[in-house]
Amino acid sequence: MTDLKGRVAVVTGSTSGIGLAVARTLAKNGAHVVINGFGDAAAIETERSKIEKEFGVKAFYNGADLSTEEGTKAFIKDAISKAGKIDILVNNAGIQHTSPVDQFPSDKWNLIISLMLSAPFWAIQEALPAMRRNGWGRIVNIASVHGIVASVNKAAYVAAKHGLIGLTKVVALETAREPITCNAICPGWVHTPLVQKQIDAIAARDGISNDEAKNKLLSEKQPSGEFTRPEDIASMILFLCSENAQQMRGSSWVQDGGWTAQ
Ligand code: NAD
Repeated sequence: MTDLKGRVAVVTGSTSGIGLAVARTLAKNGAHVVINGFGDAAAIETERSKIEKEFGVKAFYNGADLSTEEGTKAFIKDAISKAGKIDILVNNAGIQHTSPVDQFPSDKWNLIISLMLSAPFWAIQEALPAMRRNGWGRIVNIASVHGIVASVNKAAYVAAKHGLIGLTKVVALETAREPITCNAICPGWVHTPLVQKQIDAIAARDGISNDEAKNKLLSEKQPSGEFTRPEDIASMILFLCSENAQQMRGSSWVQDGGWTAQ
């Protein structure tokens, strides 16, 4: 167990998938949380209040669009003012768009780079001075195996995730003599709404069932043939927030069923 009692964790893109599992895991271990992301207002409110009831912490929601500098910086400011401080920042919000590079729409390129590379930069700019004032901090960037290797048709996503790993290293070096760490996590396939869209596309393209499309997606890349679970990623982040992880700095941690071992 990592005791996060009294800590404040801000998790971007936490209304579903990996981010929601991260917010719930940090809250379960005592942290107050600020969640963010899009979705049905009533469903989000249910998740927010469930966190408070189940774990006895405070949970705040701010549905800011993090694809702009103003939106991201205002979000972090608001999180600090609502929760009183920020100790843990998990940059997680993300989307996908697939297309061959010569046909990749510029608006999708710009959106993916803004949300998945620039927003972590803007959020860190706003959060780091506050962590320095508290004398403690943990920054975790959710990258991907696509921060280490590439796949066809994912130019923007792969570029953003490679960039995020670079940003992680710079922030870790600039904070190396402080009680603030910055690391990246690199999941392989995790079964979330983001990946279900890709499963749906395979099923439609090849005229196969949902289960057959899942197996096809996994067998192309992930030797274990099984998805990583959102909770598995959340547990890695919990460990990065512990005192035993104080010298883990600037690293990229994979949990990818063997994807990058090939
Ligand atoms: P998801 O679709 O379940 O969740 C994405 C979250 O981001 C949602 O809460 C969504 O509302 C939010 N979001 C989207 N656009 C936003 C915006 N403009 N502003 C604020 N929030 C926004 O996806 P997921 O699979 O849980 O992905 C989470 C992160 O994990 C992403 O960065 C993704 O690249 C990364 N990742 C996922 C996988 C996987 O297999 N699922 C693998 C590697 C990395």
